[in-house]
Amino acid sequence: MLLSTTANNAEQHSAAEDELALCPHCDLVQHLPLLQPGEEASCVRCGHHLDACHIESVMRPMLYAGSALFMLLLANLFPFVSMFAAGNSSEMNFFDTSSVLFQQHQQWLAILVWLFIQAVPAACMLAIIYLKLGMLYRLPARTWVARVLYMLKPWSMVDIFLMGLIISFVKLVADADISLGPSFWAFCLFCLLHLRAFQVVDRRELWSKIAPNPKPQLAAHAGKSGLAQNVKLCKVCTAMVPVTQTHCSRCHTKVPLRRKASVQNTLALLLAATLLYIPANLLPIMRTISFGETTDSTIISGLLLMWQDGAYPVAIIILIASVLVPVAKIIIMFWLCYLTRLPLAQRQRYSTQIYRLVDWVGRWSMVDVLVVAIMAALVRFDLLMSVYPGVGALVFAAVVILTMLAALSFDPRLLWDPLPEQQKGVRFDAATER
Ligand SMILES: [Zn+2]
Ligand SMILES: [Zn+2]
Repeated sequence: MLLSTTANNAEQHSAAEDELALCPHCDLVQHLPLLQPGEEASCVRCGHHLDACHIESVMRPMLYAGSALFMLLLANLFPFVSMFAAGNSSEMNFFDTSSVLFQQHQQWLAILVWLFIQAVPAACMLAIIYLKLGMLYRLPARTWVARVLYMLKPWSMVDIFLMGLIISFVKLVADADISLGPSFWAFCLFCLLHLRAFQVVDRRELWSKIAPNPKPQLAAHAGKSGLAQNVKLCKVCTAMVPVTQTHCSRCHTKVPLRRKASVQNTLALLLAATLLYIPANLLPIMRTISFGETTDSTIISGLLLMWQDGAYPVAIIILIASVLVPVAKIIIMFWLCYLTRLPLAQRQRYSTQIYRLVDWVGRWSMVDVLVVAIMAALVRFDLLMSVYPGVGALVFAAVVILTMLAALSFDPRLLWDPLPEQQKGVRFDAATER
């Protein structure tokens, strides 16, 4: 159930029940009502998820994360996918998606794929188990583990890998017979359990169990911005920290008022992504050998080929993920940086929601790179039919990583801050502002 902390319902709760929260996306101070199990609270101004109360908040995440790790182990033990073409057969294990790339001298791509689909997801699941165990026993270094967990989260790409598998099968099914092994089904379960484990862990709840939320020395009021009341947010543990204090008293992280040089860093990363996007489209992403004939394909030529072959749904998915999303993300991020330089009244009302959308959707562009890794691991019939990754795949992966870093280094609170010359004496109010 979604529960918006509106100004009215916030007032119905007594001060003892309520906790003040500062929205990390729009900097609005607001009351967080005491949540019942199963309820969630979102920011009244920008809709950002602020808090949740989960049923069985210790056991359920541990069970999901533990089962996910077990499924990941099974996914690595048995045959993943087998392919039969022209009287030959080839078998792929889950680990082959990285090891084959390594053998084909694409070490960087191999490491990236291994990190995205094995190491990072496994580390996240281990971190969730450790932190939940830490709620029962006082384990050391919980602060560090919690910090690392949320840093790694966007780089876990098992869901995108599953989409990559489906695209690869659709591409191959016309030329070959595909048979799914037990590890494939274990991987599908791993994917579901991994997503579920993240869903039932709430950052605010997690930190409240590690250490109680410190009360800021200054009296802050709901309905006004943190900036106007001299309080800032610790992005690591969600605590409110007075502007005069350099470090968070709960997690001891250095807390800047706003991310340092956020717009400059975002612009630099976007510029690098834009420059790399040109070679990423010109260089071959994949080399296919079919009956002794070698064909290099770029993102666009591969797309056109699929369209000519009548694989319209896959062509559309690749068009969206590899062409439209990266270009749109770069343009929108430039536009958001420009917005922060305009007076408050001229900024768009939904800019924060647009930021969240491009941030979420951006990682899906990695699907084409993972498709190349899957095809290279699976299609290995020497001169009859083989697929090798091209240098374009690594360059394209770099573009996606740069745009993800650009979104991460952008501070969405800047979209709600008045310009420096207008900041003196500013008091926003949630009920009246825009
Ligand atoms: Zn907000
Ligand atoms: Zn903190």
